[in-house]
Amino acid sequence: MKDTKQNPGTSPSKAGNMVVQPAADAANDMRALFIDSLKDIYWAENALVRALPKMIANATAPLLASAITEHLEITKIQVERLDAVFSLLGETAEGKKCEAMAGLIKEGDSILEETMPGPVRDAGIIAASQKIEHYEIATYGTLCAFAKALGENDAVQLLTQTLAEEKEADMILSDAACGMINLKAADNTLREAL
Ligand code: FE
Ligand code: ZN
Ligand code: FE
Ligand code: FE
Repeated sequence: MKDTKQNPGTSPSKAGNMVVQPAADAANDMRALFIDSLKDIYWAENALVRALPKMIANATAPLLASAITEHLEITKIQVERLDAVFSLLGETAEGKKCEAMAGLIKEGDSILEETMPGPVRDAGIIAASQKIEHYEIATYGTLCAFAKALGENDAVQLLTQTLAEEKEADMILSDAACGMINLKAADNTLREAL
């Protein structure tokens, strides 16, 4: 007998409606997906080169401003490294809008509007920046895995270097956050000195 207690959310007809029709240029192999993913992060890194100066301008703690300034310089090198990856693969370096990074940058902008300059805004900048770094860590982790699967060992090497830099940036931001929180908790006059 037919099962009449089927969950409407998972019925075959409903599930069928959710299956997405691929675009005409949809990736059909790992290499095409890899290239698409590289274009996504290429757009994202270039967007960060444009967005980070605003974060630096709004940071109060010199430690935080210098950490982001340093990461901006590293980000410019990461763009060049992606250029090198594209050229290793015989592909043209081009960006394709990363909706995730566009959203994370937009969220960073609204955190600035929603915080008073000083330690509170700094904490917001760290929060927004770490969300960005975590997205990049996830992305480069995947890109390294894709490159490995494709046997693109030179690309693996370059992407692994960037992955390590993103992880380091995340750790530096964590240290800055913990340092500031501890100082704030310990002494109000030290807080002024930040
Ligand atoms: Fe980056
Ligand atoms: Zn993306
Ligand atoms: Fe995402
Ligand atoms: Fe980064």
